[in-house]
Amino acid sequence: MNDFDREHVWHPYTSVTHPLPTYSVDSCDGVRIKLTDGTELIDGMSSWWCAIHGYNHPALNAAANAQLQNMAHVMFGGLTHAPAIELAEKLIALTPSGLDYVFFSDSGSVSVEVALKMAIQYWHNRGYPRKDRMLTIRGGYHGDTFGAMSVCDPVNGMHTLFGASLRTQLFAPRPQCRYGEQANESDIESIAQLLEQHAHEIAAVILEPIVQGAGGMWFYSADYLSAVAALCEQHDVLLICDEIATGFGRSGRLFASEHAGISPDIMCVGKALTGGYLSLAATLTNRKVRDGISDNAGVLMHGPTFMGNPLACAIANANLELLSAGTWKVQVANIEAQFKNELASYRRHPEVADVRVLGAIGVVEVHHDVDVARVQQRFVEAGVWIRPFGKMVYLMPPYLISSNDLSKLTAAIALALG
Ligand SMILES: *Cc1c(COP(=O)(O)O)cnc(C)c1O
Repeated sequence: MNDFDREHVWHPYTSVTHPLPTYSVDSCDGVRIKLTDGTELIDGMSSWWCAIHGYNHPALNAAANAQLQNMAHVMFGGLTHAPAIELAEKLIALTPSGLDYVFFSDSGSVSVEVALKMAIQYWHNRGYPRKDRMLTIRGGYHGDTFGAMSVCDPVNGMHTLFGASLRTQLFAPRPQCRYGEQANESDIESIAQLLEQHAHEIAAVILEPIVQGAGGMWFYSADYLSAVAALCEQHDVLLICDEIATGFGRSGRLFASEHAGISPDIMCVGKALTGGYLSLAATLTNRKVRDGISDNAGVLMHGPTFMGNPLACAIANANLELLSAGTWKVQVANIEAQFKNELASYRRHPEVADVRVLGAIGVVEVHHDVDVARVQQRFVEAGVWIRPFGKMVYLMPPYLISSNDLSKLTAAIALALG
């Protein structure tokens, strides 16, 4: 552990006076993270869902190098450029139909802020300024900025700490019906009731489609998502799908909304958009929302400094080209099959509460919070990089991982138990 780092540098969700151990990385290649002491780790995290094609990928490196010769960045106000235009075209082609208008931003949280602003501005410009609240489902995670925090789970999110500074939103219970099951009536009834009572003040329903990520790694029924989409339509409320974690193949479909065959009014993408190279996100919307915001000379009130960064866009274009080749489908299906096979035995372990698999996501939920520092050290000693949170020990490897390496990851989970 580096002394300067320990004393001066904040890491995610940590204290600088009582830091958790950090491991110093020298370089990364493929699915290997190489530490400065020479230790090599098999990556089970894809750097928080991002590095879907692994590290140091030749096609992504080439795109970055080529773009650097032209320009790393230029402002997007009053100027435009080929990498952003090409990326908008590609995103529109790949995402569910109707999502034809693109706003670029620099991180997932910001793309969520933009989605919330789009929804509020839509109703405001249509003459319904009171429709400015959000409805969401418990167990969600949408980012760390204020608007995003307000729609994160009120218990495991940061509502206690920041409560007075956050807009009070509406929360339906987390759907109990699992992925692959039919939706249960009481789940749908609860959200339907909230919509009936509050539609006059709700701008949008925002949710993570099918897979709730950092809020608890929960996979819920596609029927539930279809039902919510229909309810939004019925009650004249917009639907925002936050695909930041699920987008680009992770759940077995290119976008998780596809499991339910829906197209939301607004969709956020981020994380894997550049294959884990640079921070870039986008908020897409349909003609209805575009027109609602734009009528009577309305303008969307957002404009990040690094909007449409050409370097990030060029890498994203290369990443989407890799995805368009389609190999990911086989890779993710193979990972899913292997997870189902190799994680099943953990179900019998007395410390394990649940095992869930969907696409290239494998989750072993335990009964008590994991001692991350202690377990992390065991993982590193075993040559794997797995970072649990709370009761979740989970794997989200790069899609191109070999079945041998994947077996080492699934076997290593035992180190977190007892
Ligand atoms: C990670 C994440 C975000 C926030 O993205 P950042 O790039 O960390 O700001 C928002 N929504 C979901 C579903 C996420 O997984």
